[in-house]
Amino acid sequence: MTEISYRLPQKRALTTVLPGPRSQELTARRKAAVAAGVGSTAPVYAADADGGVIVDVDGNSLIDLAAGIAVTNVGASHPKVVAAVTDQAQHFTHTCFVVTPYEAYVKVCEELAALTPGDHEKRSVLFNSGAEAVENAIKVARLATGRTAVVAFDHAYHGRTNLTMALTAKAMPYKTNFGPFAPEVYRMPMSYPFRDGGLDGKAAAAEAILRIEKQIGASSVAAIIIEPIQGEGGFIVPATGFLPALAEWARANGVVFIADEVQTGFSRTGDWFACDHEGVVPDIITMAKGIAGGMPLSAITGRAELMDAVHAGGLGGTYGGNPVACAAALAAIEVMRDYDLPARARRIGEIALARFGELAQQVPAIGDIRGRGAMLAIEFVRPGTTEPDAALTAKVAARCLEQGVITLTCGTFGNVIRLLPPLVIGEDLLDEALTVLCAAIEEFAA
Ligand SMILES: *Cc1c(COP(=O)(O)O)cnc(C)c1O
Repeated sequence: MTEISYRLPQKRALTTVLPGPRSQELTARRKAAVAAGVGSTAPVYAADADGGVIVDVDGNSLIDLAAGIAVTNVGASHPKVVAAVTDQAQHFTHTCFVVTPYEAYVKVCEELAALTPGDHEKRSVLFNSGAEAVENAIKVARLATGRTAVVAFDHAYHGRTNLTMALTAKAMPYKTNFGPFAPEVYRMPMSYPFRDGGLDGKAAAAEAILRIEKQIGASSVAAIIIEPIQGEGGFIVPATGFLPALAEWARANGVVFIADEVQTGFSRTGDWFACDHEGVVPDIITMAKGIAGGMPLSAITGRAELMDAVHAGGLGGTYGGNPVACAAALAAIEVMRDYDLPARARRIGEIALARFGELAQQVPAIGDIRGRGAMLAIEFVRPGTTEPDAALTAKVAARCLEQGVITLTCGTFGNVIRLLPPLVIGEDLLDEALTVLCAAIEEFAA
């Protein structure tokens, strides 16, 4: 395992109250130029970022527990990624793979065939965003099966484009008043151990399958799409056995099983992909976020016979698999191997879960602690109930930011704090961030 070195000092250091004066100036300019519909978790403007820190325009150094939503797993400026991007940009930034192809695209697809679950023959296509990958996975599944219905789950998040809004579960802020939505999307109950009475995975899957068979009919279903650990919906880890039972039913019924690993992929959960944990082999897997060290790239990888069912020209796009993004992905994958980032993710999980476990004994507002590897969450409730406490969650996140620690909230009920640190974060820095977070929880939840 290669030692990690950093360009920026790995420390939390505040020189101003947050947001500082330069950030406030930019917020004022932004209000006059950027559409109000684009939110920001932290109104501090970035100037530099490396390893586990983001330095803002006022010179404050913040600890990053968000990684730009699970994107900068290898850090936001890893030297190998920077060198690969620079080198590629000096040769060509674009030709369009569907006009004049290039090797980096092919190489990324070769890597994806090797890294994704299953040793069947695979084919891949590259795109720009997670939503675009999801849209295309559904296109392939519908064409290959000749069926139309798509099954998604409660608390799902699959993106913000029209089809993916339909697949996403949460109305506000993602869907409200943006309809009409794409048809033939059916929502089924998700295994959510904290809120379904701890139903075991097989029983939860049997319930979903019964509803699919009765409400849609197996022979109409093109695909089941599911996040193996749900992201925006609350870092919900389904009970053991849930995913394998759904995958097995899909196989038996000619239904394409799509794992949306846009957030869970590329070492985040302590495996290369979250499906690996239970040995689930999806027919198609969607990937984005952590794939390219921060450059916009997404992909779908699937069984050769499904993917190659599509006629030439049916899949693609102007920018999909941009050469600079492909160069970044190849470098990021190499870094993940060099540093054994899946192992580092597991280590981050051990450290954080030990801290949270202690805290939960003293803080009854902690309803649930869950996650895997470096994808971790705390769900807040009113003590003694499962009633969500979104106000407490918002206060804790705001206090962390004030103290120079960037966290994210999530969940259908807005009552979950999630941790997605860059996987290259040092243990001392991680410890310090957890101390700030735990103190904020004690302060407001005592
Ligand atoms: C973020 C996310 C998406 C959408 O990705 P974008 O790049 O924002 O379009 C889709 N699925 C999951 C599971 C995600 O976390």
